[in-house]
Amino acid sequence: MSTTAPKQFHWRGLRVPYIAPWSAEHTLPGEIVRLVGVGGTGIGYADEQPHDRRSGILWTRQSLVRGTGTPDLAAMHSLRQRQAVTHMLCGVCGASAFDSDYARWGERHLYVARAAQGQPIAEGERTVMAPVCQPCAVESVTGCPHLRKGWTAALVSHVQDWGVAGLTLDPRTLEPLPQPKKGLHMVANDDPAERWTIAMQMVTTLHRVTPVELSDLALSS
Ligand SMILES: [Zn+2]
Repeated sequence: MSTTAPKQFHWRGLRVPYIAPWSAEHTLPGEIVRLVGVGGTGIGYADEQPHDRRSGILWTRQSLVRGTGTPDLAAMHSLRQRQAVTHMLCGVCGASAFDSDYARWGERHLYVARAAQGQPIAEGERTVMAPVCQPCAVESVTGCPHLRKGWTAALVSHVQDWGVAGLTLDPRTLEPLPQPKKGLHMVANDDPAERWTIAMQMVTTLHRVTPVELSDLALSS
Protein backbone atom coordinates (compact mmCIF):
# COMPACT_ATOMS: atom_id res chain seq x y z
CA MET A 1 0.00 0.00 0.00
CA SER A 2 1.41 3.39 -0.90
CA THR A 3 1.32 6.46 1.31
CA THR A 4 -1.40 7.96 -0.87
CA ALA A 5 -4.00 5.39 0.24
CA PRO A 6 -7.18 6.84 1.75
CA LYS A 7 -8.24 5.92 5.29
CA GLN A 8 -8.70 2.17 5.74
CA PHE A 9 -11.70 0.59 7.47
CA HIS A 10 -12.05 -2.83 9.05
CA TRP A 11 -15.11 -4.95 9.69
CA ARG A 12 -15.11 -8.17 11.69
CA GLY A 13 -11.36 -8.50 11.35
CA LEU A 14 -11.28 -7.91 7.58
CA ARG A 15 -10.19 -4.80 5.78
CA VAL A 16 -13.15 -3.43 3.86
CA PRO A 17 -12.37 -2.82 0.17
CA TYR A 18 -12.26 0.83 -0.86
CA ILE A 19 -14.98 0.28 -3.46
CA ALA A 20 -17.39 -1.59 -1.15
CA PRO A 21 -20.51 0.40 -0.24
CA TRP A 22 -21.63 0.97 3.37
CA SER A 23 -25.22 0.74 4.57
CA ALA A 24 -25.42 4.52 5.12
CA GLU A 25 -24.46 5.13 1.48
CA HIS A 26 -27.96 5.21 0.04
CA THR A 27 -29.04 5.49 -3.54
CA LEU A 28 -30.52 8.98 -3.62
CA PRO A 29 -33.91 9.65 -5.17
CA GLY A 30 -34.09 11.53 -8.42
CA GLU A 31 -37.10 11.87 -10.70
CA ILE A 32 -36.25 10.50 -14.13
CA VAL A 33 -37.63 12.50 -17.04
CA ARG A 34 -37.36 12.43 -20.82
CA LEU A 35 -34.97 15.12 -22.05
CA VAL A 36 -33.96 16.42 -25.46
CA GLY A 37 -30.22 16.91 -25.29
CA VAL A 38 -27.30 17.20 -27.65
CA GLY A 39 -27.97 14.91 -30.61
CA GLY A 40 -31.22 13.35 -29.45
CA THR A 41 -33.68 12.32 -26.76
CA GLY A 42 -32.85 10.40 -23.61
CA ILE A 43 -33.32 10.37 -19.87
CA GLY A 44 -32.21 12.84 -17.26
CA TYR A 45 -33.02 13.98 -13.75
CA ALA A 46 -35.75 16.58 -13.33
CA ASP A 47 -33.31 18.54 -11.12
CA GLU A 48 -30.17 17.47 -12.96
CA GLN A 49 -26.77 18.84 -11.96
CA PRO A 50 -23.63 18.82 -14.13
CA HIS A 51 -22.01 16.14 -11.93
CA ASP A 52 -24.92 13.75 -12.63
CA ARG A 53 -23.33 12.93 -15.99
CA ARG A 54 -19.99 11.66 -17.10
CA SER A 55 -19.12 11.66 -20.82
CA GLY A 56 -22.77 12.51 -21.46
CA ILE A 57 -24.09 9.44 -19.61
CA LEU A 58 -26.45 9.77 -16.66
CA TRP A 59 -25.18 8.21 -13.42
CA THR A 60 -27.02 6.93 -10.39
CA ARG A 61 -26.91 9.14 -7.31
CA GLN A 62 -25.39 7.53 -4.24
CA SER A 63 -24.40 9.29 -1.03
CA LEU A 64 -20.76 9.22 0.09
CA VAL A 65 -20.22 8.39 3.77
CA ARG A 66 -17.60 5.67 3.56
CA GLY A 67 -17.13 3.86 6.87
CA THR A 68 -20.65 4.56 8.20
CA GLY A 69 -22.96 1.66 9.00
CA THR A 70 -22.12 -1.85 7.81
CA PRO A 71 -20.21 -2.68 4.62
CA ASP A 72 -21.57 -4.80 1.78
CA LEU A 73 -18.52 -6.74 0.68
CA ALA A 74 -20.30 -8.21 -2.34
CA ALA A 75 -21.29 -4.87 -3.87
CA MET A 76 -19.62 -1.75 -5.26
CA HIS A 77 -20.17 1.93 -4.57
CA SER A 78 -20.87 3.55 -7.94
CA LEU A 79 -18.66 6.60 -7.54
CA ARG A 80 -15.72 4.82 -5.89
CA GLN A 81 -15.87 2.03 -8.49
CA ARG A 82 -15.78 4.67 -11.23
CA GLN A 83 -12.92 6.54 -9.57
CA ALA A 84 -10.93 3.35 -9.09
CA VAL A 85 -11.43 2.18 -12.68
CA THR A 86 -10.88 5.65 -14.21
CA HIS A 87 -7.74 6.47 -12.22
CA MET A 88 -6.48 2.87 -11.80
CA LEU A 89 -6.72 2.83 -8.03
CA CYS A 90 -6.44 -0.44 -6.13
CA GLY A 91 -10.02 -1.58 -5.47
CA VAL A 92 -9.07 -2.72 -1.97
CA CYS A 93 -6.87 0.05 -0.47
CA GLY A 94 -7.69 2.87 -2.91
CA ALA A 95 -4.04 3.80 -3.53
CA SER A 96 -2.72 4.29 -7.06
CA ALA A 97 -2.05 1.00 -8.84
CA PHE A 98 0.69 2.80 -10.81
CA ASP A 99 3.09 1.70 -8.08
CA SER A 100 6.58 0.22 -8.03
CA ASP A 101 5.17 -3.24 -8.81
CA TYR A 102 3.47 -1.84 -11.92
CA ALA A 103 6.90 -0.76 -13.16
CA ARG A 104 8.53 -4.03 -12.03
CA TRP A 105 5.88 -6.04 -13.92
CA GLY A 106 6.67 -4.21 -17.19
CA GLU A 107 3.95 -1.57 -16.88
CA ARG A 108 1.19 -4.07 -16.24
CA HIS A 109 -1.66 -4.05 -13.74
CA LEU A 110 -2.74 -6.94 -11.58
CA TYR A 111 -6.34 -8.13 -11.66
CA VAL A 112 -7.89 -10.76 -9.43
CA ALA A 113 -11.28 -12.24 -10.31
CA ARG A 114 -13.63 -14.72 -8.75
CA ALA A 115 -13.34 -18.03 -10.60
CA ALA A 116 -15.27 -20.79 -8.89
CA GLN A 117 -14.34 -23.21 -11.67
CA GLY A 118 -10.81 -21.88 -11.96
CA GLN A 119 -11.31 -20.35 -15.40
CA PRO A 120 -8.62 -17.73 -16.19
CA ILE A 121 -9.32 -14.11 -17.12
CA ALA A 122 -9.83 -14.15 -20.89
CA GLU A 123 -8.22 -11.93 -23.51
CA GLY A 124 -10.54 -8.97 -24.14
CA GLU A 125 -12.74 -9.86 -21.16
CA ARG A 126 -15.23 -7.24 -20.00
CA THR A 127 -15.01 -6.38 -16.34
CA VAL A 128 -16.28 -3.96 -13.70
CA MET A 129 -13.30 -4.78 -11.50
CA ALA A 130 -10.61 -2.32 -10.54
CA PRO A 131 -6.95 -3.34 -10.51
CA VAL A 132 -5.46 -4.45 -7.22
CA CYS A 133 -2.03 -3.96 -5.72
CA GLN A 134 0.05 -7.02 -4.84
CA PRO A 135 -0.26 -6.93 -1.03
CA CYS A 136 -4.02 -6.34 -1.28
CA ALA A 137 -4.35 -9.21 -3.78
CA VAL A 138 -2.71 -11.63 -1.36
CA GLU A 139 -4.87 -10.35 1.49
CA SER A 140 -8.04 -10.62 -0.61
CA VAL A 141 -7.67 -14.20 -1.78
CA THR A 142 -7.16 -15.37 1.80
CA GLY A 143 -9.61 -13.06 3.56
CA CYS A 144 -12.43 -12.17 1.16
CA PRO A 145 -15.29 -14.67 1.50
CA HIS A 146 -16.18 -14.21 -2.19
CA LEU A 147 -12.68 -14.91 -3.48
CA ARG A 148 -11.83 -17.73 -1.09
CA LYS A 149 -14.15 -20.06 -3.04
CA GLY A 150 -11.95 -19.77 -6.14
CA TRP A 151 -10.05 -17.01 -7.88
CA THR A 152 -7.73 -16.30 -10.76
CA ALA A 153 -5.11 -13.60 -11.26
CA ALA A 154 -3.58 -11.98 -14.33
CA LEU A 155 -1.23 -9.19 -15.33
CA VAL A 156 -2.84 -6.89 -17.89
CA SER A 157 -0.95 -4.56 -20.26
CA HIS A 158 -3.86 -2.59 -21.65
CA VAL A 159 -7.18 -1.64 -20.09
CA GLN A 160 -9.72 -0.15 -22.49
CA ASP A 161 -12.81 1.91 -21.63
CA TRP A 162 -15.79 -0.17 -22.93
CA GLY A 163 -18.95 1.38 -21.52
CA VAL A 164 -21.16 1.15 -18.45
CA ALA A 165 -23.25 -1.30 -16.47
CA GLY A 166 -26.52 0.01 -15.17
CA LEU A 167 -30.25 0.10 -15.54
CA THR A 168 -31.61 0.66 -19.07
CA LEU A 169 -35.12 2.07 -19.32
CA ASP A 170 -37.75 1.49 -21.99
CA PRO A 171 -37.72 4.70 -24.11
CA ARG A 172 -41.54 4.62 -24.35
CA THR A 173 -42.52 3.90 -20.75
CA LEU A 174 -39.33 4.87 -18.84
CA GLU A 175 -39.78 1.58 -16.95
CA PRO A 176 -36.67 -0.58 -16.50
CA LEU A 177 -36.14 -3.18 -19.21
CA PRO A 178 -36.03 -6.81 -17.96
CA GLN A 179 -32.79 -7.39 -16.09
CA PRO A 180 -30.31 -9.84 -17.53
CA LYS A 181 -29.66 -12.93 -15.43
CA LYS A 182 -26.28 -11.64 -14.27
CA GLY A 183 -27.68 -8.36 -12.96
CA LEU A 184 -27.09 -5.05 -14.69
CA HIS A 185 -27.49 -4.11 -18.34
CA MET A 186 -24.16 -3.78 -20.15
CA VAL A 187 -24.12 -0.83 -22.55
CA ALA A 188 -21.15 -0.14 -24.85
CA ASN A 189 -19.86 3.36 -25.55
CA ASP A 190 -21.92 4.97 -28.34
CA ASP A 191 -24.67 2.32 -28.13
CA PRO A 192 -27.97 4.24 -28.58
CA ALA A 193 -29.15 2.56 -25.34
CA GLU A 194 -26.72 4.68 -23.34
CA ARG A 195 -29.18 7.59 -23.61
CA TRP A 196 -31.73 5.47 -21.73
CA THR A 197 -29.39 4.03 -19.12
CA ILE A 198 -28.71 5.02 -15.52
CA ALA A 199 -25.07 4.03 -15.18
CA MET A 200 -23.92 2.33 -11.98
CA GLN A 201 -20.50 0.95 -12.86
CA MET A 202 -17.78 1.57 -15.43
CA VAL A 203 -16.95 -1.36 -17.70
CA THR A 204 -13.53 -1.91 -19.22
CA THR A 205 -11.99 -4.64 -21.36
CA LEU A 206 -8.68 -6.30 -20.48
CA HIS A 207 -6.05 -6.86 -23.18
CA ARG A 208 -2.67 -8.57 -23.39
CA VAL A 209 -3.63 -10.71 -20.44
CA THR A 210 -1.11 -13.03 -18.80
CA PRO A 211 -2.40 -15.41 -16.10
CA VAL A 212 -0.13 -15.40 -13.04
CA GLU A 213 0.25 -17.04 -9.66
CA LEU A 214 0.28 -14.52 -6.84
CA SER A 215 3.03 -16.50 -5.11
CA ASP A 216 5.27 -16.02 -8.18
CA LEU A 217 4.64 -12.26 -8.20
CA ALA A 218 5.68 -11.92 -4.59
CA LEU A 219 8.95 -13.72 -5.22
CA SER A 220 9.97 -12.17 -8.54
CA SER A 221 12.11 -9.07 -8.57
ZN1 LIG B 1 -4.14 -2.08 -2.49
